[in-house]
Amino acid sequence: MSENIAVLGLGLMGSALVGSLLAAGHRVTVWNRTPAKADPLVAEGATRADTPAQAVAAGSLVIACLLDYPSTHQVLEGTPLEGRVVANLTTGRPSEARETASWVTGRGAGYLDGGIMAVPQMIAKPGALILYSGSRTAFDRYEPALAAMAEPRFTGDDPGLAPLLDLAMLTGMYGQIAGFLEAAALVRSAGYPLGEFTASLLVPWLEAMAAQQPAWAAKIESGDHSTEVSNLEINRAGVENLVRAFHEQGVKPDLLLPLKGVIDRRAARGLAHEGLSGLVEEL
Ligand code: NDP
Repeated sequence: MSENIAVLGLGLMGSALVGSLLAAGHRVTVWNRTPAKADPLVAEGATRADTPAQAVAAGSLVIACLLDYPSTHQVLEGTPLEGRVVANLTTGRPSEARETASWVTGRGAGYLDGGIMAVPQMIAKPGALILYSGSRTAFDRYEPALAAMAEPRFTGDDPGLAPLLDLAMLTGMYGQIAGFLEAAALVRSAGYPLGEFTASLLVPWLEAMAAQQPAWAAKIESGDHSTEVSNLEINRAGVENLVRAFHEQGVKPDLLLPLKGVIDRRAARGLAHEGLSGLVEEL
């Protein structure tokens, strides 16, 4: 079904979202603070609005993709929202999403918060995912239209949930990047070809390790941190050894040291017999 959709914010991501909605045959009205960014989208079939209110008046689904929540509030302030569904795909914190949800619903609109797990080039392609939370009714009503941008996944009624899961996924990503950078510095210190190490050794190893994570999650959910794999004492010695090796190679273990700190803290509580999953209790 073709929908009337307003999109506020035509940065790199907002423009990609509009392109996917137009390609799926929706009628899209666009607004951007810097009007010239609408030009290529108007050429593709979007309608230009001179104000956010004009855009919102033309769309029953209002997608916001702006810098941050304060700019979203600025743009929506004073704009009649009655009867609309606002899907806010701006990145932010759970508390901001909850506050924006009550502000928007208080003005007679449905609210969905969204976390975009993709870069603009991935939009409308396999692998792109957008997490949603908030009004299930609004999600069900617009799911087919949302699917034009990326796989839409509803995560729960709490509007803060999609941004929280978005941040959790980014946390996993930054942890992996931190591990890669430390490994790269160590490998480089020995003059070994980094590309070869990464492709033939590190990536397969990380993939094998990632496959263990659902089992770790089950351990954490059960609260049982016993292990038949390797206990904290062994890992403490292992990380201690790593840190010493780094120093000997003239490399700073800065990204590794926080992990060592948490292991030491857990072991100091007399819990060195547990597995690494127990570290979550220290956070
Ligand atoms: P851009 O910097 O390309 O665009 C920012 C947009 O916000 C522009 O439309 C800009 O308008 C607008 N804006 C900024 N401040 C204001 C303001 N005070 N009032 C009105 N409009 C304002 O960023 P992206 O498009 O890349 O990102 C947009 C959102 O999407 C962000 O929340 C980002 O975290 C999220 N996101 C982006 C991803 C990416 O890979 N790019 C990935 C996942 C999420 P103007 O053109 O006038 O400057």
